[in-house]
Amino acid sequence: MQKADFKAYICRPWCMFFSEDEKEEMACLGARVAARLAENGCIRTDEIRNVIKDRDVWEKHRAGLGRILCRVCEFCAEDCDFQSLEPSEDLEPCGGYIVLAHLLENGAVELRDLEYAL
Ligand code: SF4
Ligand code: SF4
Repeated sequence: MQKADFKAYICRPWCMFFSEDEKEEMACLGARVAARLAENGCIRTDEIRNVIKDRDVWEKHRAGLGRILCRVCEFCAEDCDFQSLEPSEDLEPCGGYIVLAHLLENGAVELRDLEYAL
């Protein structure tokens, strides 16, 4: 799955790391899983449009998403510090994580849905 397939509804609106000039085509696992759920019809794109950025929600789902998603995300080792022991206070997770945490919080998906989409 290419970043171009979902950057309009995941990366551009929700990810602090997104840049229009960025030529990198590799995508984080969070975005790929969120896009797969949308493609499979498991979630609707209007649910993604209505995402709210909420640090409390990110923290609440840190362990679950960390275990299923971040631990095996290719960006975790070098590019993304969100799951590090001491992330900076203004650091945000990727757009995919933000979307998935919101959907988990609202009951639109469960962790097992994410596992099936890995
Ligand atoms: S880190 Fe993930 S959500 Fe952010 S721009 Fe890259 S692929 Fe998109
Ligand atoms: S928050 Fe970081 S490690 Fe977790 S899925 Fe997103 S890019 Fe990967």
